This record gives sequence, C-alpha cells and structure tokens, in this order.
Amino acid sequence: MTEMKNICQNCVMPNNFLGVSLNEKGICNFCQDRSFKTKNWWKVQISDTSRHKSLQDWNNVVKTMQKHHVTREYDCVLGYSGGKDSTALVDTFVNEYNLNPLLITIDTGFMTEVAKQNIKDTLTKMKLYENHSIIEEAIPVFTKLYRFFFFHHNSPDLALTAKICWVCTDLIHTILVKEAIKRHIPYVIVGFSPDQIKRYFYETTLENIIEDGTPDAEFKEVLDEMDLQWYLTESEKTSNHIPRVLYPYHVIEYDENEIIKRIESKRLIEKGKGDPVITNCHVVKVALIYDLYRYGGIPYILQYAELVRQQKTEEERKKSRRKWLRVYNQVSRGILNGTFNVEGIKLFFNKIDTTKQALLDSIIAQRNKDPNKEQILRNIELLQTKRLK
Ligand SMILES: [Zn+2]
Repeated sequence: MTEMKNICQNCVMPNNFLGVSLNEKGICNFCQDRSFKTKNWWKVQISDTSRHKSLQDWNNVVKTMQKHHVTREYDCVLGYSGGKDSTALVDTFVNEYNLNPLLITIDTGFMTEVAKQNIKDTLTKMKLYENHSIIEEAIPVFTKLYRFFFFHHNSPDLALTAKICWVCTDLIHTILVKEAIKRHIPYVIVGFSPDQIKRYFYETTLENIIEDGTPDAEFKEVLDEMDLQWYLTESEKTSNHIPRVLYPYHVIEYDENEIIKRIESKRLIEKGKGDPVITNCHVVKVALIYDLYRYGGIPYILQYAELVRQQKTEEERKKSRRKWLRVYNQVSRGILNGTFNVEGIKLFFNKIDTTKQALLDSIIAQRNKDPNKEQILRNIELLQTKRLK
C-alpha cells in the first residue's frame, strides 16, 4: 500500500490546512491553480500597466513634495516601526529625496526591544530626533483589541495571525492619518514590502481610509469614549485634510538584499537586527500558538510555500522545499514543546491579564465544535511525531 502524502509534493503546503488540500497526486490547490484564493492568502499581482502608472504618480508625488519643501514643516508622515523596510525608507527620504519627513512610531505595547534599539540607533546616526514622535497613549486600546480577538476569534478558516495583523494595521494607519489631518500634512507613507498581501496596492482609497478608521462592529462594544478617540471622528471623516496614504515599495524597485546591505553599511541598525523574525511584534508570535492548536499548523507555511513555488529550477525548488519544511517543523515543534519565544509570550499573557492555559481551554472548546476536528488533530500529531513528508 502506498502511503498518503501529507504535504504538497511540489511546494510545502500541508493537507487539509486552512482550506487547502492535496489531490490524489499529492499536489496542493495553489500548485494546481495559481489563481487559487483562500481567506488567509492569495497570490497578488500588480499588472505592468498599473505599476507603471503608479510609479509615474509616485515620481510626481516626490517632485511635489520637493517643490513645497521650503514652505512646509514636514513633507509627509512616515510610519516608522524600526524594521528594515521603514528604516531604509527614512534613509531614502532624507538622503536621496532631500525631504523632511515626520517619523511616527506607534507603540502598541508589544514592540520588541530590538525594534526600539534600531530606532535609537538610526535617529542618533542620522540626527533625526527632532523629526520623531512616538505615540504610546493608544496602548490601552491595542491591549483591549488583542484580548478581544484572542478570546472572540471564531472562524473555521481565517487564521488569527492574519486577523490580528489586519485589525492592528488598520488602527496603526488610522493613528497616522489622524496625525496628518491634525498637522495638515498631505501624505502618509508606509514602507510595506510586497509580502504584505492584504495591502498589496499602491494607495489606500479614501473610502478604505474611512473604513479602516471605523472600529469593527463587534469590537466597538468593548470600547469606551476614551478608546474611540483613536478612530476617525465624524469631522475627521469629512475633513479636507485627509492625506493620501501611499505604499511606495509596491511600485518602486524593492530589493530586500540591497535594503539590508544599505542600512547595515550605513550603520543605521546593527548587523542582523533587521530580521522580521526578531523585529515583528510579540502579538503575532502568540497568535501563532493559537493557530497551531486551533487549525493544526502555522500560517507562515503559506508564504514559505510561495517561496518554494517561485524557484526557477527543479534543483532550487527541492533545496528550498527542504529548507522551509525544516523551518516549519522547527517553529511548530518549538510551539508544541513550549520552547518558542518563552519570554515574549510570558510578557504578552501578563499584559493582557490572562494565562496560556485559559487561552488553550478556549481554543479546545472551539476546536471540539469544528467539523474538521479529526484532521486538525491529525496534523498536530504529524508535527509532533515528525512525519510530515
Ligand atoms: Zn503545492
């Protein structure tokens, strides 16, 4: 009897995970059909025509900022997280465009120390302390938001990591937009790389700026007056000063290696400290635990699988497949053994005033009601017994 394959034989997608399954040949939906979509992930393409048009617009925006530079205190608001991408964008704005951006960091209460240190290093090196503002006052709202979504997330197939990232990003962008409105700054610039699929476009439409600035109906119930001040008010929604929100990395050349080399050689951040794995917030890491126990795997595999599919030759694909399967196994088993990001996770549960056990109990209660329960448990078992192949 031939044994059933449990991960895609072309990429690394596990069978029966978050709406993806394998056919009788052991090939997943994404490898069979490049346009396959799930709630959590899809392959986003920007056509050459629209990229070209957006690039022209971006060049005009930069020229316009340069033209008005002398008359403005700040040319734009630049969202600044301390990760490699936003750090490189600060460098581009100051040293290449000769502009004066207002750098805004939104502290959600769960920023890593590495990200904070990166910010200090860059501001010191570039003498930009005057340009920087860190907003910490919204921490209570973010804390409520995380607590709410960890205990009220109830979806058969949307990963919590995706949901949390999306709602948190909406609020972060809204706070940037509010600052821009208050100061009459016409642009908000965000350094998202092309793997942020939910916002893989060049510009957020006005309609979406307003939608992002309005809390989800379910979440609104737990917010008080003080919390609501971080969302758009009625007068802000109709303001003439709503800025354009732009994502230049989705149209200009994005070269990850060049970015890392540039910021490290200019010593804007220390070597090796630009890695998203260490700069990403603690919340997403805890959401990975949720997803593993709730859905039987970690959603990073969706991105890993895409990296495998992008390989040009058969040999490279095989090599990449082995590498990402190893990473997936390591992270998953670290979570299952309780050795993954121990300090960050402890900190998270303390801050949202609950315990890992309380969260696990709530996950298990939901999982017991899931029609796919057997498959979820089987996928967890495969990770525990190292039998994914
Ligand atoms: Zn596949």
